[in-house]
Amino acid sequence: ATPTAIMAGIGNATKFGILIREGDALERLSMVRYLMFDKTGTLTYGKPEVTQVCSINPDISEEDLVSLAASAEIRSEHPLGKSIVRRYTGQHGTAPPQPDTFLMLPGRGVVAECGAVPVLVGNPKLFAEQDVFLPPELVSAADACVRNGATIMYVAANSRPAGFIALADQMREDAPSVVNAVRAMGVCPVLLTGDNQTAAARIATAAGISDVHAECLPAGKLEMIDRYQEDGIRVAMIGDGVNDAPALKRAFAGVAMGGIGSDIAVDAADVVLVRDDLRYIPHLFGLAKKVMQTIR
Ligand code: ADP
Ligand code: MG
Repeated sequence: ATPTAIMAGIGNATKFGILIREGDALERLSMVRYLMFDKTGTLTYGKPEVTQVCSINPDISEEDLVSLAASAEIRSEHPLGKSIVRRYTGQHGTAPPQPDTFLMLPGRGVVAECGAVPVLVGNPKLFAEQDVFLPPELVSAADACVRNGATIMYVAANSRPAGFIALADQMREDAPSVVNAVRAMGVCPVLLTGDNQTAAARIATAAGISDVHAECLPAGKLEMIDRYQEDGIRVAMIGDGVNDAPALKRAFAGVAMGGIGSDIAVDAADVVLVRDDLRYIPHLFGLAKKVMQTIR
């Protein structure tokens, strides 16, 4: 059955750039107890700026390190990758050279070959998987940036650690009020991120979320959804990245940030926020509640 109220609700949503991809999405949203927020690109603007570049290989200058990373990330859909490419293009006035090969590993980073040089760009999980040892001096230099809230992209060239690039992203101005509004509607906010504990805690505190899960791989986000959904409790998830797609699919209701989000996230979602604006979240939940009240 498609009652008039649902059709009207979908019509109202569309006017605000909220795309309802599944007919029963509003009904499902009205039933959730938790909303899991992704961090990068969802609670933050997803436009991280480089705060420090550190090279530990005397043959690779800091500028070379950025060039290698930019080349490796040129086909990346990740906000971190796009930032490095933007920085390179800003400085050189041209796009970075295309890599010969490129492999994206969601929640970890990228593996590429740039001008016959094998390159890794990513977090410690990627380096562990690829058997490239991160020297303690490099990690402690990076940790100083992490304490200031940065996210670290470690870089390796020829299977040897070359240095890191630290980036910091800004929380969306509306995040605290959106989190508050969601909570006022009886939905518990949770932060689910692949980023490090410190960066996660910093954004969570600023946004007013106390339930935080950091360093989750895509499968970890999925597992967390399953854990919350035990005993018939229903969960909604909002995210923008390839890394969020499995969780968006598994959640009772999935919402994608469409403006900057990857197509893979959009395809996995029941609802898409076409405008890159978090304020449509409370609007969406309000609409869902209203439509369902009309039906009952
Ligand atoms: P979030 O859940 O905050 O959106 P992701 O799961 O996308 O974060 O990423 C988690 C972590 O994986 C990042 O903080 C970064 O360390 C690493 N990472 C993911 N993609 C890339 C990439 N393209 N380049 C470098 N690092 C990456
Ligand atoms: Mg994200």
